[in-house]
Amino acid sequence: MLDAVVPAAPMNPRSDAEALAAVRRHYPDAVTTDDAVHRLLDVVERECGLQATQLLLADSICSDDVNSIEYPERARRMLGPFKLGGLDGYPHAGVTGMGAFAAHVPDGGGVVIYHAPHVGVSRDGGFGLILRPGQHARSGCCGAARAALAKLEADTLVAQAPSDLDYQQGTIEQVFLAARERILGAPEPLKAATEVMYEAIAARIDMLVARTTFPARWAILFGGILVNGDADMGSFSVARRVVARHLETGEERDLLEMMRG
Ligand SMILES: [Zn+2]
Repeated sequence: MLDAVVPAAPMNPRSDAEALAAVRRHYPDAVTTDDAVHRLLDVVERECGLQATQLLLADSICSDDVNSIEYPERARRMLGPFKLGGLDGYPHAGVTGMGAFAAHVPDGGGVVIYHAPHVGVSRDGGFGLILRPGQHARSGCCGAARAALAKLEADTLVAQAPSDLDYQQGTIEQVFLAARERILGAPEPLKAATEVMYEAIAARIDMLVARTTFPARWAILFGGILVNGDADMGSFSVARRVVARHLETGEERDLLEMMRG
């Protein structure tokens, strides 16, 4: 996106604990995404009786290449991922995408649907900026969210259907416009916009799941904020909901506290 680059501070060889501390200044509950996946797989095995290899993963996360570069290695124990997301994680794959994903579940297995907008936190604690691999200056993350927020702040957005030429960005703009006062009235508008995006994504995921038949025992919905760090920091997870739904009995288990425990 068209964010101005900001000169980066010199890189220091610091520990992972210091990188996590930088993220926790903004999100006190953050853990590394590797930790989050590890905890999730442990809890799902215990509560649902399913091993990682019996789980098909879908993710609804931003197309940004940093999300591929920083994809948690431990998530690769599951099958997938099926990609549901477009810019800033909105599930543009829609009903057909969710249906295709559902058709690929291993026999007797389950589905994990991870959904999250993302935001950058740099090693020096800067919000909405990261140092990307091979670059010497920090740039915006999520660039799409920042571009939409810049238009909201400039008061240039109008309520309208997104154009075919820039449909995904137009969707983000409309989501932000509908929450204009909440975002612009917040002490950190990008952080508030990221929460607004989380809620819009979660609501759409629920809508898509409700319209889909999964030939599976369990559907696990894991929603949160995905935090990208500088190139040497990795990525981090802020969980907002972790729910397991038994698809035959309708039983629903809240796994969030177990994930934190
Ligand atoms: Zn993004």
